[in-house]
Amino acid sequence: MALMRRQSLVKFDAPLCETIVDTPKPQGNEVLVRIERCGLCHSDLHIQDGYADLGGGKKLDTTRGMTLPFTLGHEIAGVVEEVGPDASKDLIGTKKAVFPWIGCGKCRDCLAGDENLCAKNRFLGVSIDGGFATHVLVPDAKYLLDYDPLPVNVAATLMCSGITAYGALKRLVDRPRQRNILLIGLGGVGMMGLSFAQAMFTQKISVADLSPAARDTALQNGASFAYDPSEPDVVKRIIKETEGGFDAVVDFAGNDKSMNFAVATVARGGKIVVSGLMGGNFSLPMVQWIYKRMTIEGFMVGTLEEAKELMALARAGKIKPTPMKEEPMGEVQKWIDELRAGKVVGRIMLKN
Ligand SMILES: [Zn+2]
Ligand SMILES: [Zn+2]
Repeated sequence: MALMRRQSLVKFDAPLCETIVDTPKPQGNEVLVRIERCGLCHSDLHIQDGYADLGGGKKLDTTRGMTLPFTLGHEIAGVVEEVGPDASKDLIGTKKAVFPWIGCGKCRDCLAGDENLCAKNRFLGVSIDGGFATHVLVPDAKYLLDYDPLPVNVAATLMCSGITAYGALKRLVDRPRQRNILLIGLGGVGMMGLSFAQAMFTQKISVADLSPAARDTALQNGASFAYDPSEPDVVKRIIKETEGGFDAVVDFAGNDKSMNFAVATVARGGKIVVSGLMGGNFSLPMVQWIYKRMTIEGFMVGTLEEAKELMALARAGKIKPTPMKEEPMGEVQKWIDELRAGKVVGRIMLKN
């Protein structure tokens, strides 16, 4: 029996640790993928913690239904190594990106194609074992996407940071009065969002981030304006320079500070899409919400259909690459620590 290596969560709120087990044998329609790359995402940190921050010292327990050891990682691309008896043998040896937002396949949300909303989901690296390993077992071949001629790193990142950024931006398409767009938070998802926004919109794209390095990178990668939210009177300056604020805002950070900045800089009749999960609590005076006629929409990951749309855009060469850095899979914990410390610009891609 072949063995697989995993960087496992063996205890919540503790460093990952290598475990070695038998490589699973695919059953039915299952497919075993040998992992070439897995991206490190901020949500991996929350799962490792075992809770999400609700603000005011309150925590949401996210350990329910998870059995340890558990394998994190959901931005996966690799090569099909083995298939179950009901899957096509032709898949063996093909290079694929793995769509991780897999539902139960039976509920109202799944039947409507919204597997990302499934309450009984089988999200890879979130609910069932994921990609910080040499292999991953995928429930069905329909979750595998061709990515040629894209680089393997790009293919992997499209599956989480990519689809999150794309899905959030899609919620701002077809708004005729939209003059401008602001992207808040330039982590891995925000940087991808900046790249996609230039393919999806004709309007100028502005960005905001506390990090000067992230702002510089954004300006070199097509942002028209970059704002430091901690600059005194920056909101006043934005309202003046934009003649009333931004008609569309995406908050890729998702904490009280970023949302306060979004609400302060959104124009009357504007829309804010929130997809960041930094956590905490944010409050909004009712009259401000109503006087501004603002819309606030929460968004997380995306559907298989959206993943295919995004993959098609990328394969057609419509998307500029975003900053990425390859590191050995065995060093994932070191990079988790760096990400927690806010020392990572762009995406860390773990390599087997
Ligand atoms: Zn993610
Ligand atoms: Zn379902």
